[in-house]
Parts: sequence; structure tokens; C-alpha cells
Amino acid sequence: MTQRHYLTSDDLSMNAQVLSCSRTEDGRFEVVLAATLFHPQGGGQPSDQGTIGDASVLRVSQVEDQVIHVCDRDVPLGEARIDVSSAARSLHARLHSAGHLIGFCGEEFGWRAVKGHHWPGEARVIFEHDVDPREMTGEIIEQQANAHVAAGLSRNMTLDGDKRSIGFGSLPAYSCGGTHVGSTAEIGKIKISKVKEKKGQVWVYYDLEQ
Ligand SMILES: [Zn+2]
Repeated sequence: MTQRHYLTSDDLSMNAQVLSCSRTEDGRFEVVLAATLFHPQGGGQPSDQGTIGDASVLRVSQVEDQVIHVCDRDVPLGEARIDVSSAARSLHARLHSAGHLIGFCGEEFGWRAVKGHHWPGEARVIFEHDVDPREMTGEIIEQQANAHVAAGLSRNMTLDGDKRSIGFGSLPAYSCGGTHVGSTAEIGKIKISKVKEKKGQVWVYYDLEQ
């Protein structure tokens, strides 16, 4: 079982124990560490990027209780330095956290956020509703979400066994395994690019100003 330090730490570098490194059919190397800071793909966001020793980490996935780092070269067993790319982590955390704020805004209109996809260039939050919701416009969501950004709300985290909840300021917390900014101010300006109704759902597409 890989210890998933990324759930409780924003650190991007540490020394880790390489437990195994196996060559795949396509010439890559699957590396398992005793503990990792690399967030795997999942929860609506892409995996972290970075290095393990001299090897580049191409993608990261979770398979049962192990985190698998797919690398471009062999990594010797034993201790290795691991470094997570701060540029990719920061972009993914900003996009993911913006998704939380858009989710809160929709819920104030009586909609329920059922799915988030926070990949660069295609980020969206999908809403459904139980009772009569109010109409949501892109302008109103954008205004409210950016008000939460401007307020600089601090992230708060609660852990209950394996289950982690993330909230910002006094906004309601979501059970979530992704990566998040420490303060909503880090997100920068959120731009709602499109709001589309589809089979009783509302799809809210968004992006960030660089
Ligand atoms: Zn989250």
C-alpha cells in the first residue's frame, strides 16, 4: 500500500523509498514507492508531473491501494529524490478549486453538483436538481465565484479515517481527494465560458485567466 502524502501535504519534494520498478511492454517503467507526493489521475483532474531520481514521471495512476508512477527510464531500488512539477500542480489545483467554488454557487441556486472535470481547456461542472431550481446564468456564477476568489478564503481540511473533506472559509466542505490551493486568492480570475442545458442537467464550462 502506497502512503499517499499528497492528501495531507502540499510539499513537492521529498526522499522516498523505491519498492519496485518494472518494465512495461511499451518500454516504460512502472515505479512503486513506499510513500508519494504525486497525485494520480482521478477525481476529475490529470496526474501530477515531475521526476523520480533521473527519471521523468509521465503519468501516475492509482491501482487498488498502490500508486503507480509510469516513468521514461529505469529507477534503481532504494532511496530516491522525488520532485513534483510546481507549474502543473498549481494549474491543476487552481482549476480543481475553481470547480469547488462553481459548485457552491450552483448549489445556492438549488442545483446539485454531480460531476466535475477539471482538465485544462475542458473544465466543467455538471449540475442536476431535485426540486425547482432557479435559473443559473454564466454571468451570475462568474460574479459569485470571483467574489469568493477575491475574499481569499483559506482552505480547511478534515480527515475521518481515509475520508478527507475540503472546504474554503465557511463554505460547505466536499468530500474530495484532489489537489487544492491554500487560499482561493491563488485561483485568479474565473471565466465562465459556456452554460449548456442537457437532458435536465446544466453543464457549466469554465477557464482561468493566466
Ligand atoms: Zn476538491
